[in-house]
Amino acid sequence: MTVRVPAKVNLQLGVGPLRDDGYHDLVNVFHAVSLFDEVTAVPADRLSVTVEAAPDARVAIEAVPTTGDNLAARAARLVAERLGVEPLVGLRIRKAIPVAGGMAGGSADAAAALVACARLWDDPDTPRLSRDDLMEMGGAIGSDVPFALLGGTAIGVGRGERLTPVPASGTFHWVFATADGGLSTPAVYAECDRLREERGERAPWPRASEELMAALADGDAKALGAALHNDLQPAALTLRPSLRDTLAAGRDRGALGALVSGSGPTCAFLAESGNHAADLAAALNGADVAEQAFAAHGPVPGATLL
Ligand code: ATP
Repeated sequence: MTVRVPAKVNLQLGVGPLRDDGYHDLVNVFHAVSLFDEVTAVPADRLSVTVEAAPDARVAIEAVPTTGDNLAARAARLVAERLGVEPLVGLRIRKAIPVAGGMAGGSADAAAALVACARLWDDPDTPRLSRDDLMEMGGAIGSDVPFALLGGTAIGVGRGERLTPVPASGTFHWVFATADGGLSTPAVYAECDRLREERGERAPWPRASEELMAALADGDAKALGAALHNDLQPAALTLRPSLRDTLAAGRDRGALGALVSGSGPTCAFLAESGNHAADLAAALNGADVAEQAFAAHGPVPGATLL
């Protein structure tokens, strides 16, 4: 049972005020891109997790837990609990999505494990767990998990987990530039709050950008590039100043838009075409401003059984 699951980039990440529960209210426009982890689930006599890097992927697998803390293991336990079975499964995770890279790799693996374990343990003829059940269970594991199930392009509100698909035309071509070493998502949110306080800024109530929605509906890459926005970017740049050079290198080489992906440190660049993306990735690899740059496209479907 192998499930393929995509990474995400945030086309807009609007961060509102800090809530009493410690989360921020967000407007989060997610876009699934063609960079995939694979999770294979096989029956076993106990729950175990192994992690390997996909061929050619430079991912820091040593930073991924192989214990019960792994988000895929948490997902397996949740499915077992809901179906009243023991979580007797071996999970093999083949990672291409950067670890702690702002592309929701851990959430993707959790989504894949939900789908794989439901398929393993649920009754195929009269399933007890619907797609909506898996979405709800995903939201309990982490804010980015439901989107990894859904894929495509979608707007998330609340903690980002209440999703509505967004109509998008055509295919957009991207380049992603990974960095050596991750950034902790909670640390980036905390830095965002600190910077706002230092500057005396009140967090605005986040609203979906109309320019962004129109660009997506029209399949207009130039307009999309101009509308990309991430409220966490100043915080990510303070914590990792070298990302300024990475973003500038992409802009100087004709990217239609450049931004930090989610909480970083991966940077995302929108290209004019597949060929432009390939050229831009090669140029960034030659410029020594990233660990690895590669092309990908979006939108792509969410977690899919192979
Ligand atoms: P996001 O974009 O959702 O903020 P991220 O892409 O920055 O997340 P992840 O790669 O999802 O970060 O991982 C963050 C941390 O979660 C890792 O440092 C690791 O300790 C832990 N983790 C747990 N399970 C996994 C998993 N299956 N893959 C990667 N990291 C995992």
